[in-house]
Amino acid sequence: MTKKYDVVVIGSGPAGYVAAIRCAQLGFSVACVEKWRTKENKSVYGGTCLNVGCIPSKALLDTTHKFAEAQNSFDAHGIKVTKMDIDVPSMMSRKGAVVSQLTQGIKGLFATNKVDGVVGSAKITGVNTVLVTDHDGNKQSLETKNIIIATGSQPINIPPAPIDHETIVDSTGALEFEKIPKRLGVIGAGVIGLELGSVWARLGSEVTVLEALDEFLPPVDRQIAKEAAKIFSKQGLDIKLGSQVKGHKFSKGAKKQITLEYSDKEGKQKKAFDKVIVAVGRKPVTEGLFDDSLGIKICDRGFIEVNDHCQTKVPNIFAVGDVVRGPMLAHKGSDEGVMVAERLADKKTQVNYALVPSVIYTHPEIAWVGQNEEELKAEGIEYNVGSFPFAASGRALAANDSEGLVKIVSQKATDRILGCQIIGPSAADLLQQIVIAMEFSASAEDIGLTMFSHPALSEAVHEAALAANGHAIHIGNKKRR
Ligand code: FAD
Ligand code: AMP
Repeated sequence: MTKKYDVVVIGSGPAGYVAAIRCAQLGFSVACVEKWRTKENKSVYGGTCLNVGCIPSKALLDTTHKFAEAQNSFDAHGIKVTKMDIDVPSMMSRKGAVVSQLTQGIKGLFATNKVDGVVGSAKITGVNTVLVTDHDGNKQSLETKNIIIATGSQPINIPPAPIDHETIVDSTGALEFEKIPKRLGVIGAGVIGLELGSVWARLGSEVTVLEALDEFLPPVDRQIAKEAAKIFSKQGLDIKLGSQVKGHKFSKGAKKQITLEYSDKEGKQKKAFDKVIVAVGRKPVTEGLFDDSLGIKICDRGFIEVNDHCQTKVPNIFAVGDVVRGPMLAHKGSDEGVMVAERLADKKTQVNYALVPSVIYTHPEIAWVGQNEEELKAEGIEYNVGSFPFAASGRALAANDSEGLVKIVSQKATDRILGCQIIGPSAADLLQQIVIAMEFSASAEDIGLTMFSHPALSEAVHEAALAANGHAIHIGNKKRR
């Protein structure tokens, strides 16, 4: 028998499962189809983010940060650690437990909200039909008024370093190393490359990051990127910019080693590694999802074409998350999922794409939102800038974690905050204060007039806002107003 729904969501990552739950809350009958299977052949919800992305990477970043802190920073606190070791299998099983708690949590949320979870691979066979094939080849057809595509993304493979799941791995493989590689090559100095490179560097790997571009972290404010490069280099990440990987060779012998061939401004270079992580970006997943005749359009880079409300060219078919334009971030996909659900219920919800926060979860973290100085200059917008170093923050000094700074840019004419960039401890959480302020069109003065508790890291945000108007208290101001 064909089951009938108001909404069928394809994919249960942060875009899909959030869309499904919100649709159910609004009174729609909903199914969410998911094909993901673990290595142990278990069907799970949660997509990339929960299974092989945000969550497991943060679990490893947190474990290895504690390890690095104990090694490098406890001494300054007078804590003597005589013998310390890392047990990689225990670290991995903790990570696995966190992932499984959260993926099980989605199962629970589906049950509470009465979302039908359907296991199998979905294909849109008509504007109102989705065919699901389960892992044994059984097929069932779902009839639906609306379809939300949330099929996400997958790692990009490059011919010079094809993934073999052993020596050359993608981000998923890099979350599963059984041993600490002695020499680790990372191709790509983007967010994922830097986070995963940091995990293994903290445990003792000699990490070399090969990046084709000459510029480090192009989307990031230049002052912050420069500070980041300095700090990462101190942490032992050897980041080689302008180094494009062209090929590889495996060494002969029992122990598999790899030599990456790359070119930089001096010419052809080579470097030997025990493992290589390819982290050169991700691409949308749409293969086999629908036939062209359906009318859904795909644009040049493989993304499904949608309008500002995530509607495809077919009015009752929507697409959200990594499979559509915009930054490939979990929270951006979730907000799109909520927007589509609410618009189906005739609400006027929108996503504010100008205020998507970005974070790199290294230590210190790097976080930014809105526009930075370079972007404002390019647009000819006059601005004030205020910055405050964590080295002048009482709380950061007390914690012996005082690298980095907060920067706030505001419009010269109106004082309205246009952007914020932070490198420092808890940057992601600190940034969120400014994201909220910007959502309410706050001025730097509004932040300056807000009382912040002392001593807290967030005082650095307060002081940067005061500095934008020339009256920070705990640093000298370039301009006094
Ligand atoms: P996905 O999470 O990719 O989910 C799509 C789901 O659709 C998958 O489960 C897939 O199996 C399913 N699917 C696909 N096709 C079909 C089909 N035909 N039938 C049925 N099911 C199908 N983002 C952040 O915001 N913060 C972070 O800290 C962060 N860290 C990351 C770390 C790593 C290592 C990686 C790889 C990514 C990270 N990301 C992070 C990015 C984040 O994971 C993605 O932006 C997010 O998962 C996208 O959500 P989504 O729902 O669009 O797609
Ligand atoms: P992101 O898309 O943010 O994950 O970053 C991926 C990075 O990988 C980009 O900065 C690319 O310039 C870089 N990259 C892509 N191909 C290569 C290559 N062959 N060698 C080195 N770096 C590369």
